[in-house]
Amino acid sequence: MKNRPIIGISATLLTAESGVYLGLERACVINNYIEAVRLSGGIPIILPVIEGNEMIEAQVDLIDGLLLSGGYDITPSIFGEEPALGLEATHPARDIYEISLLQSAAAKEKPILGICRGIQLINVAFGGTLFQDLPSSGFPVLQHFQKTKYSLATHLVKLLPQSKLRKIFGKESLFTNSFHHQSVKEIAPGFVISAQTSDGVIEGIESQNAPFLMGVQWHPEVMCPQTSGMQLLFSAFIEAAKWRRSR
Ligand code: MN
Repeated sequence: MKNRPIIGISATLLTAESGVYLGLERACVINNYIEAVRLSGGIPIILPVIEGNEMIEAQVDLIDGLLLSGGYDITPSIFGEEPALGLEATHPARDIYEISLLQSAAAKEKPILGICRGIQLINVAFGGTLFQDLPSSGFPVLQHFQKTKYSLATHLVKLLPQSKLRKIFGKESLFTNSFHHQSVKEIAPGFVISAQTSDGVIEGIESQNAPFLMGVQWHPEVMCPQTSGMQLLFSAFIEAAKWRRSR
């Protein structure tokens, strides 16, 4: 266990809608993230939303890699926009926390993987923008919020040549699940597109400079272990974290 990297998974805040603790906010993550990290050789820990940069820095010092999990829409004022009609629930406290967490982890060169909201957060934290609501974005798009099971792959994602993602998966394209209504619009400076669907929606971005700082728009954590290929992404992330730990 000693050489296994510790992976911090950013938690969401969820208000209990029934039961004994009705109305109280919980810090939590969907267990699939935890299992994906565990099965890939990492030690998962949950990072709750907290205030204060010093405390956040201390959280980052505990981990060898950061996994930014999915969740609420990102507050549009962060990327200089007012809320569009199609915007769904936001949680500004989580946005502020995760941006600090991400910037601290990036400054300490810890490997970072963003999933769903995570890719969007990476993009806005480094100066990019988002489509607040794809269906009302003004151009025809595929179904990106599938009605089928979470673990089922529905749309085809093209992996761009020269991307790290293409190297990780070792192929030109793959089928993924899709549960999002927002997506990357203008890509942040210093980042490149690594994956895209046939309608032009950006499904992956990665930093040109950092050794491992990337995001994907789909949910690989619910596709593995059923879809063996998805494990490759987590394995690459854990390997990068292992290397960072050894430094
Ligand atoms: Mn999609």
